[in-house]
Amino acid sequence: MAKYIVILGSIMSGLGKGIVTSSLLKILKERGLKVLPLKFDGYLNVDCGTMNPYRHGEVFVLKDGTEVDMDFGHYERFLGKDLTGESSLTGGKIFKQIIEKERRGDYLGEDVQFIPHVTNLIKDHVKRYAKGQDIVIIEVGGTVGDIENAYFIEAMRQLSLEEKVLFIQLTYLPEINNELKTKPTQHANKLIQSYGIKPSILLLRANRKPSKEHLQKIALYTNTNKLFYDPTLETIYELPLVLEDQNIYYAIADELGIKAKKEPDWKKWKKLVNNLKRAKRSVNIAIVGKYVENKDAYASVKEALVHAGAHLNTKVNISFEDSSKLGNLSQYDGLIIAGGFGKRGIEGKIKAIKYARENNIPLLGICLGMQLMVVEWARNVLGWKKAHSTEFNPKTPYPVVDILPEQKSIIEKGATMRLGEYPMEIKPGTLLSRIYRKKVAKERHRHRYEINPKYIKDLEKSGLIFSAFYKHVPEAIEYPNQLGIGLQSHPELTSKFEKPSPVFLWLVKQSMKSSKK
Ligand code: GLN
Repeated sequence: MAKYIVILGSIMSGLGKGIVTSSLLKILKERGLKVLPLKFDGYLNVDCGTMNPYRHGEVFVLKDGTEVDMDFGHYERFLGKDLTGESSLTGGKIFKQIIEKERRGDYLGEDVQFIPHVTNLIKDHVKRYAKGQDIVIIEVGGTVGDIENAYFIEAMRQLSLEEKVLFIQLTYLPEINNELKTKPTQHANKLIQSYGIKPSILLLRANRKPSKEHLQKIALYTNTNKLFYDPTLETIYELPLVLEDQNIYYAIADELGIKAKKEPDWKKWKKLVNNLKRAKRSVNIAIVGKYVENKDAYASVKEALVHAGAHLNTKVNISFEDSSKLGNLSQYDGLIIAGGFGKRGIEGKIKAIKYARENNIPLLGICLGMQLMVVEWARNVLGWKKAHSTEFNPKTPYPVVDILPEQKSIIEKGATMRLGEYPMEIKPGTLLSRIYRKKVAKERHRHRYEINPKYIKDLEKSGLIFSAFYKHVPEAIEYPNQLGIGLQSHPELTSKFEKPSPVFLWLVKQSMKSSKK
């Protein structure tokens, strides 16, 4: 029977609950335990697909096409495992089901209520999801005290009456006049206890190590001495090691009554973290995009670069170039043209592509980035000055990027893009086939437009190489100088800390070469 860990955030948001959850997943996995995350989010969107990356950070896409938030990216990157849409439970998903059930007559004669109908539905989902696992770590989005997650926390209280559940409180010790303060933690803990829940482990986020006196005080007020320091680190990948050093596993094992199935082996992880902290070489790579004011909008691209850097023992200095007001690109050893939607910044992205192509700067175009590589090629190599994507100019005489035929009749916006994993067949002899070293590679997608198959012949004749297809959909292009690659998919979504994306490895390697020149 699966056991559960529920992680509650307290005092304020932004404490890194997702990284804590990811670190615990890794620590338990290292013991040979079967472990999965589940995240609850209180918003009433059914999924993240309709949210703005400016406000909410990147939309992460799971293998099965579910659109979720960036925390799922961290889970997968730490755990080294692909998750399913079942790992995400949102307020929107829950209430959609409740109302559908009510209309169908599943609750005939009853008045439908938060308790027991909503809480039962949550518990059923959680238990179904946990089948076959040793442990499920449930991250409750938001902060204790929010209206949005109160019914979910109540469901977790009820779950703890039926199953073995360990509650962990993530808290913050603010600092004033050089002194850490524990009072907010005491209050927040009291608030949690008023819900009928007693956290047995506390993770203390603070900018310096709490003293013995601090710990004694917190222990006295919260009734637990299982207190762990959660420092701000140079790299997020160090947190599992920091928590492991404090023996958090034994505290968890003690609370849940679990036994490790193997000895942990941190060798590889430690080496990668060391590479990140002490790399002797460095390269400068810029992500060109329009959401640069919120760095979280490109979280996975950033992490994929970090992974490649760790494996190549190189520090990747990541810069963000706003595509609406492009700066000096000559300072970069490599460029990434990010995905995106909407007209703003498009011409800036095209300019950056032209610069990279003409100056032999290693270039990776992702999704919209690839589409614009084709627009730039059509305009400047083929001389079709008015070539464009019909997403931005429906009347262009050269619609080299056009809506996917199956997308034409779709009106609803939620979860209707071409989403999730598709295989691409890679042409032998291409740069891409050397990068992936296989005939078929799978990557995740999130788009409505594609390279217009009508123009492939002309583009090929002028030298552009189409290196992969899924059926008739062009999946990848490359430049004849072998320094530019465009992918219709998002290779950043599948990069893991211990298993980096081959495309990002290629980009960082090429950038290292170009930085030497
Ligand atoms: N807007 C483009 C499309 O829908 C690209 C999407 C993306 O970059 N994810 O095809």
